[in-house]
Amino acid sequence: MTGARITAYIGIGANLGNARASVEKAIQQLDTLPATRLTGQSCLFRTAPIDAGGDDYINAAARIETRLQPGELLQELQLMEQAAGRERRFVNAPRTLDLDILLFGSQEISTELLTVPHPRLTQRAFALIPLLQIDPLIAIPGKGPAHSFVTAVAGQVICKI
Ligand code: AMP
Repeated sequence: MTGARITAYIGIGANLGNARASVEKAIQQLDTLPATRLTGQSCLFRTAPIDAGGDDYINAAARIETRLQPGELLQELQLMEQAAGRERRFVNAPRTLDLDILLFGSQEISTELLTVPHPRLTQRAFALIPLLQIDPLIAIPGKGPAHSFVTAVAGQVICKI
């Protein structure tokens, strides 16, 4: 937990229970993780589920500075998901809280547990648009400017709330 300070971006989503409250709470909780502070957040967005049933999702993104290693950060996020009552009953099941590491500094990570940049970041408006709201000029390591992917997700409905 004594690594260099890294700027990371977290994608947050929920579509079960009080999704709006869960997302807002999760953003604030990021500030309480060990060796981590919250440095930015998007507003909340409403999006239709993709490849899944259930209610619309509430989505947001947050920027943090952390000295955690990527695997440690993932563990902390998974503890937050579990504390929010998340069950993985089936793939793409509705969820009380879903937390993804979208970017971890300029690192490209490909392990069994972690793929960063998040593989769906360039394909899903619910991840890309909140990220761009925080940092419009952000680059996706290995892929280029995040804004260059906006046209690719233009068909996906995403509404600011
Ligand atoms: P999901 O059901 O979409 O939350 O996926 C959870 C699984 O995705 C976990 O087992 C993680 O190990 C894996 N995973 C791979 N890359 C990432 C990432 N960038 N952020 C969060 N989870 C990831």
